[in-house]
Amino acid sequence: MSKFFEQIKNNWDEITQKMLNDNDEISTAFFDAFIKNPLKLVKYEKNILYIEVPEEGYINILNKRFIPNFLKISISEVLDIPLSNFDISFVVKNNIYSNQAISKEIIEKRLLKLKIDPKNTFQNFVQGESNRMAYGSSIAVAETQAIYNPLIIYGGAGLGKTHLLHAITHHAIEQNENLNIIYITCSEFKTEFYLSIKENKTSELIEKYKNVDYLIIDDIQFLSNAKETQNAFFDIFNSLYCEKKQIILSSDRPPKEIDNLPDRLTSRFSWGLFTDITFPDYETRVAILLKKQEEFNPEYPVDMEVIRYIAQTVKTNIRELEGCLTKIIAGSRLQKKQINLSLAKEMLNNGENDNKRITPENIINTVSETLNVDILDICGKSRKTDFVYSRNISIFLCRELIPDITQEKIGKFFGDRDHSTIIHSCKQIEKDIKTNKNLQEDIKIIKNKLLI
Ligand code: ADP
Ligand code: MG
Repeated sequence: MSKFFEQIKNNWDEITQKMLNDNDEISTAFFDAFIKNPLKLVKYEKNILYIEVPEEGYINILNKRFIPNFLKISISEVLDIPLSNFDISFVVKNNIYSNQAISKEIIEKRLLKLKIDPKNTFQNFVQGESNRMAYGSSIAVAETQAIYNPLIIYGGAGLGKTHLLHAITHHAIEQNENLNIIYITCSEFKTEFYLSIKENKTSELIEKYKNVDYLIIDDIQFLSNAKETQNAFFDIFNSLYCEKKQIILSSDRPPKEIDNLPDRLTSRFSWGLFTDITFPDYETRVAILLKKQEEFNPEYPVDMEVIRYIAQTVKTNIRELEGCLTKIIAGSRLQKKQINLSLAKEMLNNGENDNKRITPENIINTVSETLNVDILDICGKSRKTDFVYSRNISIFLCRELIPDITQEKIGKFFGDRDHSTIIHSCKQIEKDIKTNKNLQEDIKIIKNKLLI
């Protein structure tokens, strides 16, 4: 047993208790139901602490509440070790794969050869509604060949397709070093074929592809208008499919919309599973930024307020989300200090986002529309339960989504209430949200309407 694992085991009660004490978001009921009793330490291997959960559903629930982040922070503080030294992975009971046999060097060598970014792992991929199906089916094919064949992941630029294809490759290599895997971009695939035609070596090349266990091709929209490559690909596809070898493809649009892709190919694609990735909702964007921050391991961690600001501002794709974070981290390194909200705004402001800013008016409007309560009642003085509920949510969201707003200013929108009533409303929501599922759901819907 490693020393680190032993230390965690011996201090487990203190670690989890500290996590509970330090994070208002975790209620005691949630702690008892999802952390204290069910979580079991399994092993520590290759910088990953494996923790067992009783069933799959727990993993989503724990990730949604950022428990891996909170746990890591708590472990790091109790044992006084850097956060970047280890990661946490939940595994379902009786489903713990063991891969001690394959050395880190072998894996790294193979990833390098396949031009896979080793950071693009399942571990580093944050799940949310926008990618849950793509994520789940990617894990499934990485674990079991040809369970869905082909698997096709499609969605706009910068939403995580390449990350998932890399993660599948990485995971499959870790499972079994003898697997013959090709990961290639469609452009490289095309070039390889044009060269082989020139050199009269096409049949050798096709044979090479027919011998793989996993064929993973990124961005197959580039197969459009490439007749020779399409023919070769068709031949390879049929052979691999019959042999029950796994084919995984990504595309920036549904295959039916790829220009000039012959029907014989699109109809074969429909034998497998199509799954799309869309733009993540606000909560997932925050979780992605926290994950990236952890990966970048900055000297001056970015303030939660700044993280929320980036998640609110960037509404294009995840690559851009990451770009903003990198910019801020670089800025803090240069200035040798933590970047505050106004500096972050200055750094990121390119003028474009001003007209998309969230205001108390559009929060109140959206709450009214979603909960079917009149605006006048939200802003009025009546203590009727429905009105108070909508009012408290509106006040809470004003404070959370408009970072620089004062309590006095919020009060003005709600019948000139003073700051203690504003604080009281926010506290009420913060308390109820821990246990009240309807409230969680309502806030999620309203935020999504405001932030997408
Ligand atoms: P695509 O291939 O769809 O254009 P990428 O896979 O290259 O997009 O993703 C762009 C960036 O966003 C990458 O750095 C990737 O790691 C990151 N990314 C995308 N989705 C997620 C996610 N769910 N969790 C963490 N990082 C993500
Ligand atoms: Mg890509």
